[in-house]
Amino acid sequence: MKVGILGAGQLARMLIQSGQNLGLQFTTFAPERSPCVDGLAEQQVAQFQDKEKLQSFFDAHDRITYDWENLSVTTLREIRECEKKLFPSLSVLEIIANRYRQKKFLNSLGIPTAPHALITEESGLIDAVQTLGLPGILKTNQLGYDGKGQKRLKDLGECQTAWAELGRSELEYESWVPFKRELSLIACRSVRGEEKFYPLAENHHVQGVLSETIAPAPVTESMQKFAESYAQKIFQAVDYVGVLVLELFETSDALLVNEMASRVHNSGHWTIEGAETSQFENHLRAGLGFELGGSQALGYTAMRNIIGNWQGTEHIQEVFPDILVHDYLKESRPGRKLGHLTLQGKTHEQLIQNLQTLRSFLAANGPKETV
Ligand code: AMP
Repeated sequence: MKVGILGAGQLARMLIQSGQNLGLQFTTFAPERSPCVDGLAEQQVAQFQDKEKLQSFFDAHDRITYDWENLSVTTLREIRECEKKLFPSLSVLEIIANRYRQKKFLNSLGIPTAPHALITEESGLIDAVQTLGLPGILKTNQLGYDGKGQKRLKDLGECQTAWAELGRSELEYESWVPFKRELSLIACRSVRGEEKFYPLAENHHVQGVLSETIAPAPVTESMQKFAESYAQKIFQAVDYVGVLVLELFETSDALLVNEMASRVHNSGHWTIEGAETSQFENHLRAGLGFELGGSQALGYTAMRNIIGNWQGTEHIQEVFPDILVHDYLKESRPGRKLGHLTLQGKTHEQLIQNLQTLRSFLAANGPKETV
């Protein structure tokens, strides 16, 4: 079976690696050649807005998925058989690609999010800050990821500079959520309607960018079920196919969705070694109509991103023989996700102990995470 991937970053790399067990053939489609998929897949280099090239790409493949949601929805809408071949579907992508639309969709299903408002002019921002209060966070509605295109507001006087900085496109203002923990749920639904849910994972961010994931997160059974019920509502509402990720804020009395992603996700990298089947393999299984693999955790796993450079980690396996190093083969650049480390423990306590040792080692020797 021939599978096309729109995008050619590290997520495409790990999808392809996991798909090799399934006997699949891959091609990526991206504006530039990518070292992440070199030697793993054929690469088509073209702009996402190039309708002709995109159409031939769709014609040449049985199924198409994506590792990046900032695609051209307008162009995709004009592609023959897009609805038949693309997973998750174009209608899902349209919802996901816009923060405000995403929240409206979630709220319409009764899924709670941070209080928010759509901002299209500076006076609207001032009104929103007065209504929703401070502190808050101003975010671009599109093309925002990893905390980019965001500005925290602590004072009404900051509205003017925030608008000047971000106001070129549509924005959203959100109340600041005093969360206790950030969690994420990786869920998956297949073309046949089969559903799987991974255990909730706990995420730690540095300056808005994911740094560590710990899985399974210590949570109650009812919190796990509550998060799964959100994903099930979304699955049913849009006849979802593929991996769906919910980034969640746990507060003292609620579980809010911060963001959803209709693709495999950084907070699910732990599943490669830490679960019966990885998020990557299950995403492909889901879209291709295969039976889904199990989603139970195998022991306790932590994932640590390598951001900016690999400095100090060259001999890390000599110090931590059990650590697994995933190198995406990208060139170093500040803020860029270059790879990740996976470490495991037999119990949660042991994992946290191992992670503390790794943290101390990285603090003394490792890359300074310039974001
Ligand atoms: P995002 O790009 O929306 O996922 O935001 C990146 C990170 O910023 C989140 O993982 C949180 O750590 C933080 N953040 C975003 N929105 C809020 C909010 N409304 N309240 C508190 N923290 C937030």
